[in-house]
Amino acid sequence: MQKDSFSKFKALVKKSNNIVIVTHFNPDGDAMGSSLALYNYLVKTDKKVTVITPNDYPEFLHWLAGNKKVVEYSKQPKKAATLVANSDLIFTLDFNNYSRLEGLGQLLQSSTAKKVIIDHHQQPDNYADLYYHDVKACSTCELVYEFIVGLGGKKLIDKHIAACLYTGIMTDTGSFRFDSVTPKTHLILADLLSTGLKPSDIHTSIYDTYSESRVKLLGYCLTEKMVVIPELQTAYISLSEKELKRFNHQKGDTEGIVNYPFSIKGITFCAFFSEGDGKIKISFRSKGKFDVNQFARKHFNGGGHINAAGGRSNVNDLQKTINEFLNLLPTYKKDILKK
Ligand code: 5GP
Ligand code: MN
Repeated sequence: MQKDSFSKFKALVKKSNNIVIVTHFNPDGDAMGSSLALYNYLVKTDKKVTVITPNDYPEFLHWLAGNKKVVEYSKQPKKAATLVANSDLIFTLDFNNYSRLEGLGQLLQSSTAKKVIIDHHQQPDNYADLYYHDVKACSTCELVYEFIVGLGGKKLIDKHIAACLYTGIMTDTGSFRFDSVTPKTHLILADLLSTGLKPSDIHTSIYDTYSESRVKLLGYCLTEKMVVIPELQTAYISLSEKELKRFNHQKGDTEGIVNYPFSIKGITFCAFFSEGDGKIKISFRSKGKFDVNQFARKHFNGGGHINAAGGRSNVNDLQKTINEFLNLLPTYKKDILKK
């Protein structure tokens, strides 16, 4: 845990006039929820703020307050470059290494603005001036809630900001079920709900928005594509670009599929492989002690958390990537089976 004092954060925010908030490539619920919560709060304190994402993100996140003002670097690289160049403070949320930003990383690297990391991923890089970092936090949204309160902004947390924060906590904890959820998490949720937020509205906006083809893709994954290896308590699912096209794949459609094999009794390690844009993206999830952050870091150019991580294959071939994964499994058998 590395948390600088709020007197330092207060002083830095006070003297900053052009603030940029950046989150990771392929932003998820926690990335957008935390970025837009902080954005809406800072706007309320009369700061000039912009959220910049490296690329686009799923439509089921577009209802979050402030979404229309988000600048996507992949669509508006010049605008993003100007904003970064003119900023005096940059918050980097829900990641801690410029490699998670693709091209936008170079812009940040050459910027002289002060940098603040608010994040809960393992092994943060050292590019920031100030840190609000805790791997024990269930989500970056939990940390942003604490951060706003720490700056003295609790009264400014309205229904819209609360909805952003609730979204990130919900999506990063598998709807409040992971071990990262603590009494503190629920106290924060209680506070967020007291703004008048309806949990069913948020759940519906995030999870009950599937297209018919997305539900069918999920069915296809489970009936045709899931491979279970009981002796290794492992299961994996893979999808080629062709298969994704067949189901009219839209951004975000494969999110969460990696977790489904956990419903099978005894499964403690799941992987999901998908092919797209000439790359193989992999998601890893574990239950218990097996550290998928280390596994993704060591073998698949990735990282994340102990029980949830992602990465990318060294080879741009789906079957070769799966074979590489399968060849690694025996070495990790003891770790996977460890309770
Ligand atoms: P997902 O599998 O949902 O894409 O990601 C799971 C977790 O691992 C998230 O917390 C995400 O931020 C992190 N993650 C995903 N891909 C990468 C990657 O390529 N590098 C690193 N360092 N973390 C990743
Ligand atoms: Mn997160």
